[in-house]
Amino acid sequence: MTSEPLTPDETYWDYCSRGELRLQHCAGCGSWLFPPGLRCNTCLSRDLHWEPVSGRAVVWSWLRMHRKYFTDPALTPPYLVTMVQLAEGPRMISSIQTTERDPRVGETLHLVFDDVEDANGHRLPRFAYAEANR
Ligand SMILES: [Zn+2]
Repeated sequence: MTSEPLTPDETYWDYCSRGELRLQHCAGCGSWLFPPGLRCNTCLSRDLHWEPVSGRAVVWSWLRMHRKYFTDPALTPPYLVTMVQLAEGPRMISSIQTTERDPRVGETLHLVFDDVEDANGHRLPRFAYAEANR
């Protein structure tokens, strides 16, 4: 019995389930790809390799949600939906662990994996403020 190869999305979530954030890196042009895909967005190469990223990011934009739309524990209002720009370049929508204060655009964050899962059972990569004890 052979198993089906994982799709790019499945591979991404499989790494997340192990507490690793890996993105596809293009051997053709050096671009990082997110969201996951079959070809590089820049040069269309299929020579993509899953590489760990640094986990460093900055706040690109954010908003505070006050209404309950989802049953996920991570999305119990109020919560922060945050567009972060990874040090490697790609932007991703994520959230900041704590809601005790507003983020600042350009503020440094670091990756955290807590054990919060979304409705699909995916372990979510989230972010925390880089300064400790703020
Ligand atoms: Zn490329």
